[in-house]
Amino acid sequence: MAIITGKQYVERIDSLKNEVWIDGEKVCGNLSEHPAFKGILQSKGKLYDLQHDPNLAPSLTYQVHDEKSRCNFAFEQPTSIEALKKRKEATQLWARKSGGTLGRSPDYINTAIMTLGSSYSFFDQRFSQNVKRVFEHARKNDLSFTHTFINPQVNRSPHYIEFSDKEEIIAAKIIAEKKEGIVIHGARLLATQGGITDEVLVLPVGGNSIDPAYVYAFAIPSNTPGLKFLCRQSYAKGCSNRFDYPLTSQFDEVDSVVVFDHVLVPWDRVFLYKDLNAVGRIFTETNLNIMLLFQAVCRQIVKTEFLLGISESLAQTIAITDYQHVQEKLSQMIVTLEIMTSLLYKAEAEATLNQFGTMVPNPKPLMAASTYYQKEYSRLIEYMQMLGASGFISLPTEQDFNSDIGIDLKQYLQAKGAPAKERVQLFRLAWDLTMSPFGSRQTQYERFFFGDPIRLSSALYHSYDKTEFVDLVQSFLKKTN
Ligand SMILES: Cc1cc2nc3c(=O)[nH]c(=O)nc-3n(C[C@H](O)[C@H](O)[C@H](O)COP(=O)(O)OP(=O)(O)OC[C@H]3O[C@@H](n4cnc5c(N)ncnc54)[C@H](O)[C@@H]3O)c2cc1C
Repeated sequence: MAIITGKQYVERIDSLKNEVWIDGEKVCGNLSEHPAFKGILQSKGKLYDLQHDPNLAPSLTYQVHDEKSRCNFAFEQPTSIEALKKRKEATQLWARKSGGTLGRSPDYINTAIMTLGSSYSFFDQRFSQNVKRVFEHARKNDLSFTHTFINPQVNRSPHYIEFSDKEEIIAAKIIAEKKEGIVIHGARLLATQGGITDEVLVLPVGGNSIDPAYVYAFAIPSNTPGLKFLCRQSYAKGCSNRFDYPLTSQFDEVDSVVVFDHVLVPWDRVFLYKDLNAVGRIFTETNLNIMLLFQAVCRQIVKTEFLLGISESLAQTIAITDYQHVQEKLSQMIVTLEIMTSLLYKAEAEATLNQFGTMVPNPKPLMAASTYYQKEYSRLIEYMQMLGASGFISLPTEQDFNSDIGIDLKQYLQAKGAPAKERVQLFRLAWDLTMSPFGSRQTQYERFFFGDPIRLSSALYHSYDKTEFVDLVQSFLKKTN
């Protein structure tokens, strides 16, 4: 089968009949007809369709040597710097369709699936073939995955350990081992797109798990019995007008709590089981984190381009580009874009082959880029809000323009650089990225993308070898004495 069309993707998700809950109700009909999911399913579908465009297919797909059909770029193991560059271009091509706001386009977790599949020999020999098989199955069927890597936010104090018997379980754990597989019960956070993907990838929470019941990894179909997706309130529901909600209407991915209600995970889907020794290494030795960061930084660069493009258009429209503080704000966006691009370039240029034959970018610039962006993104959003001022508030809808007051709106909301309706359309886009519920989530998403910024900064500090620089200072001091 290999690459699918948008129609195939949507039909497949509809036919899975995943257990999805939203607004206190279980979705009974097709997800693609539900107002919360319609827009995002269509948008993801359009990404799949691009794979069939003859002009884009060479970038978005690749030929597996012993197979006839082409596969999606995310499943290709990069074995050279050239391949990494191709991967970057494909990632950015997809990301441009949403201005980088679609954090979980299918290539994100498929990058994880590819990385795990390419390093299947890392896994215990009881499970290594499972990893390889799941990867090949995903590649051949162009599957999409959601993922969940963290426990519910119950008690984050340093010494908290959940001691629970069967009735009180909160964080998902292994409660039984059967001939057919392992039984998982409890919850995990926070699966973006939970319910609208084919499968779910579950990896260990990380850190120092001391209870083996919490140490597991697997991938299972989203319609596995007992698996429930409890979605947050939809931002897209009631906001389907493209003029009024240009981003919300298309790219609200929806996030969900994942509940495992006595879910049986078949043995052939288990990747890791009660192996305390492998739990931390699964991320580092397979280079999973680095490959995911590479995808993320590619997307964040596109998002910064989008932000800069909107901000400059906005400034031109109301003629504020001559003010120095406006130039300073726009130049900060340029600086961010150039820093991110340069860090990615360095990571790519200094890539090395790992023990599994994957060309892995240099982690240091990628970790720096992601740590930097977690803080920088909200600053850029604030700059945009400062540029737009009340223009982000006086935002009539398309319906207003089509009503009797349309004539007034056209007169009083015109700008130097655009007639009223075009100006409002641009400002609505800026508002949707910065101030709507969708936009606020985007800021929170970039802040917590890849984990808590505080602990990620700490991880960067600890993993970065500073000896050379300390030695430099020591030798400088010796020379001056
Ligand atoms: C929009 C969005 C989408 C997401 N999508 C996904 C997804 O698809 N899949 C997925 O697995 N996860 C997803 N996440 C979760 C994301 O990975 C977490 O938000 C992130 O890892 C932080 O964990 P937390 O939210 O539980 O915060 P917490 O760990 O609860 O932190 C809360 C606060 O306490 C502080 N704190 C807690 N513990 C410590 C500590 N040990 N040391 C210092 N400070 C501490 C933090 O700094 C923070 O200020 C998503 C998050 C968001 C916001």
